[in-house]
Amino acid sequence: MHRPLHTTIDLAALRHNLGIARQHAEGAGIWAVLKANAYGHGLPRCAEALADSLGETGGYALIELESAIALRQSGLRQPILLLEGFYAADELPLLAEYRLTPVLHSLEQVQAFVAARLPARLPVYLKLNTGMNRLGLNAGELPQALRLLETAPHIDGITLMTHFSDADSGPAGPGIVGQMRRLAAQIDQIDRAGQPAWPLCLANSAALLRYPETIRAAQGGWVRPGIMLYGSSPFPEQQTAAELGLRPVMTLTSELIAVRDITAGERVGYGGAFTAERDMRIGIVACGYGDGYPRHAPTGTPVLVDGQRTRLLGRVSMDKICVDLTGIPQAAIGTPVILWGEGLSVDEIAMAAGTVSYELLCALTTRVPVVEI
Ligand code: PLP
Repeated sequence: MHRPLHTTIDLAALRHNLGIARQHAEGAGIWAVLKANAYGHGLPRCAEALADSLGETGGYALIELESAIALRQSGLRQPILLLEGFYAADELPLLAEYRLTPVLHSLEQVQAFVAARLPARLPVYLKLNTGMNRLGLNAGELPQALRLLETAPHIDGITLMTHFSDADSGPAGPGIVGQMRRLAAQIDQIDRAGQPAWPLCLANSAALLRYPETIRAAQGGWVRPGIMLYGSSPFPEQQTAAELGLRPVMTLTSELIAVRDITAGERVGYGGAFTAERDMRIGIVACGYGDGYPRHAPTGTPVLVDGQRTRLLGRVSMDKICVDLTGIPQAAIGTPVILWGEGLSVDEIAMAAGTVSYELLCALTTRVPVVEI
């Protein structure tokens, strides 16, 4: 590697985190959410790494049809759920060919699916809008959707699903309670005489970790953890990833490429956004927003230099950041620097930069090489 910046992806940590999800899932099946290139960790490697641990009661949840097909072509046989279903009816034969389970989230989608008369039977998920107001059948539409699906011979079971808007906010979680109530009301509209209950799929990471009642309500169903699998807390301000027993999967590592002594009053970086309060030594690290490090990370954002915690100084540039070397006398050109991951949670960086770990993990650019461990 020419430039001393890379990420390591720790697949054992990914499997460990899946184990934590299992402990909370109370026997429910697990859809490992691997959309957006496995939240930036690399889809093929993560899917492969989880295949055995997912076993009979697990699968992959994705958005991207092309990626789902690539997983099948690589020989993976686990169920695959397409979280946004399909975008145009001409994709439906591909779903049948590659055994992909669609989430149907509107009556139009249900109608198109029924009309397709596919050559293979597929399970389907029916998404209900219970308050997120993005995708999902409106209150009152479920009976009609079920009646339509009953007429389609190419359906192999229906699971009902919803998505929580604020399982990650405040401990009281008023949104969850309201959404669970609306879900129950929608299901109660159906005349279930003689019918077994439909399996439910409700919980994302936050609900899985914090609202066991959503798992119990979906007994025999499925859960959909994403962010926790990558070792990040869905609610870092209340509980850290380490407190949840999660291990970071991605570590972003670089080195000091320059060290300089500056005197009190010197300004650092673009805009001179940091002014030295005293004579000090600073380090220049090969990592910037051109690599996916957040440009909005302010002075004070934590950085690990040679394992010691220190702080970012001044503005993040495209290729470089500056860090405070006070109290790290051994720091020299070539000293390792961890931007996030092992020993420094990505959640801390996200909070400092006013964003969420999801965004940072997904935003790493292709110029950062990946080392799998
Ligand atoms: N289910 C759906 C429908 C999603 O869109 C997502 C991610 O945004 C998840 C589950 C996983 O959520 P999280 O990463 O917060 O666990």
